[in-house]
Amino acid sequence: MKAVTYRADDGVHVENIDIAAPGRGLVAVDIKATGVCHSDLHIVNGDWPADRPLVLGHEGAGVVSAVGEGVTELAVGDHVVLSWFAPCRRCRNCAAGRAWLCSGTTALDNTLPVGDTAFTDGQGKQIWPYLGLGTFSSRVVVPESAAIRVTPDLPFEVGALLGCSVTTGVGAVLNTARVEPGGSALVVGCGGVGLSIVLGLHLAGATTIIAADLSDEKLELARTLGATHTVNTGKTSLDTVRDDLGGVDYAFEAVGRPELIEGLPPLLRTGGCLVLAGMTAVGASCTIDPFDLADQGKSILGCNYGSSVAAVDVPRLADLYLSGRLPVDRLIGTTRPLTEAAAALDQLREGIGLRTILIPDSA
Ligand SMILES: [Zn+2]
Ligand SMILES: [Zn+2]
Repeated sequence: MKAVTYRADDGVHVENIDIAAPGRGLVAVDIKATGVCHSDLHIVNGDWPADRPLVLGHEGAGVVSAVGEGVTELAVGDHVVLSWFAPCRRCRNCAAGRAWLCSGTTALDNTLPVGDTAFTDGQGKQIWPYLGLGTFSSRVVVPESAAIRVTPDLPFEVGALLGCSVTTGVGAVLNTARVEPGGSALVVGCGGVGLSIVLGLHLAGATTIIAADLSDEKLELARTLGATHTVNTGKTSLDTVRDDLGGVDYAFEAVGRPELIEGLPPLLRTGGCLVLAGMTAVGASCTIDPFDLADQGKSILGCNYGSSVAAVDVPRLADLYLSGRLPVDRLIGTTRPLTEAAAALDQLREGIGLRTILIPDSA
């Protein structure tokens, strides 16, 4: 089958690879749609070291096509959304209901739970699944805990986005910040996560939603999703949030740039909260004024995967979409064949367009 791979010395390729049948506790899923996320770009850009060949992709949805021994919760034919943070279900954080902080997952090592991979290349050499998934392929083999059953009514393109960007963005609002109705918020960066934060703020009843980005196209979309104000940061300083709009209760950084992050605490009202939802390069640092934080009772919260428990949050978000309360489909820009992944990553790097969905040949 065709897959999109990344080899550190050699960039992004479409190649024919093989996939093993699912072993114990694993399921095979035929990928029907997969989103192109900034975390894939971080790998391709070299921001996050990956010294082994990877099948890229971690935002996908599809249909279970085979189950391994010991699988009890899924059956062939189930529609599933893939969660890139397959929880171990045994560690202290999993037991406490904080699956997004699981310390037993191997997903971040880009392997399956026993440290192996189902993918091999034409020479029989192992290729590793990015974040334990590798959704830029026609089929994946993943742990049962990474495949969340959803209603077949959910379109695959929407399901793919629930695998990462939407769960991260809406979760940042509902789970991490716990935004209250009537609050005011700034969202810096209107990519897939940032626009999902705008959707989440609208859903949570925030009454002032300020979207900031360099792209007028994305700001226009943010307005249609619930933003009440927009700032094109290529033309206007974010200081306008404090100087002209009185500051905000919540600020969400959804780009992952230290120079943006350090400018945000001064824009918060007393008692306000900055949520770091964008991922910086590994080892990045920034300067924060601790007196302002202590004196003004401000806080900074880290947010990985929207502080979400995928088994709980993905079906909830699917219901919100299907009831018309969370128009996730509006985040989808172009849909391309999987084989055009490299071009889609280039577009993402240049900040052009909305979320791209890739469709494998066989889907
Ligand atoms: Zn992602
Ligand atoms: Zn765990």
